[in-house]
Amino acid sequence: MLEIKNICKSFKDNTVLDGINIKIEKGDVVVLLGPSGSGKTTLLRCINFLEKADSGLITFDDVSADFTNITKKDISTLRKKTGFVFQNYNLFNNKTALDNVAIGLIHARKISPEEAYKISKNALDKVGLKDKYDFYPSQLSGGQQQRVGIARAFAFNPYVILFDEPTSALDPELISEVLSIMKNLAKEGTTMLVVTHEMSFAQEVANQVIFMDKGKIVEQGPPADIFTHPKEERTKQFLRRINNYTDYAI
Ligand code: ADP
Ligand code: MG
Repeated sequence: MLEIKNICKSFKDNTVLDGINIKIEKGDVVVLLGPSGSGKTTLLRCINFLEKADSGLITFDDVSADFTNITKKDISTLRKKTGFVFQNYNLFNNKTALDNVAIGLIHARKISPEEAYKISKNALDKVGLKDKYDFYPSQLSGGQQQRVGIARAFAFNPYVILFDEPTSALDPELISEVLSIMKNLAKEGTTMLVVTHEMSFAQEVANQVIFMDKGKIVEQGPPADIFTHPKEERTKQFLRRINNYTDYAI
């Protein structure tokens, strides 16, 4: 189980996360929605320690830490529990697909190169890139680059993979190949926290949807509830805007 309690984060006087509580059980697929600037990326970055939250608690199963006095050792232990898939892939352009996946395993995880390459090939096979090991990012489509990004996160065998708008930089015809990889991962029981506005993905795959605005969770629940009977006016407004959503009772 991943649990975050009362996470707060400000950039100077801009409060970006204002007491966020989320609980994710193993195998859950949680979709996080919210308007631009509501704090979604910052939340994922705090969970992955790319950003340091000002306060709050984070727990992965039996390891718990308080952001106000977290140690480097805790950070290094807890960071291993999450993988991150970036909006813009974040691949090394001067490295092949295979090296992009393997490099973190070798340097951050201290896995032997032989083992790291074996894991990396398996991960690339899983995202349908068996024939692209030696291709550089510039030789791959955006969808293929993002699949390398997913393979890289998956290869670390994290407790949860955090996806930050993984398809929003893609041309429309490439979105479905990435979503189908994500759906397969979900079906296999991968625990996922996904920022996306792909409603079909949320409806089909998520077991929990969280809507946040201005650094707070406005509403959360199963997709059938959030999408068909949103309770909060702010949620209704948002869904109407992104989805032209009109067929629920107001
Ligand atoms: P979202 O992903 O929901 O669009 P973000 O988490 O990216 O939202 O941003 C939330 C707010 O935090 C925005 O007002 C943004 O300008 C601010 N912000 C994000 N990162 C930084 C940063 N590194 N320094 C200062 N402000 C930031
Ligand atoms: Mg964002």
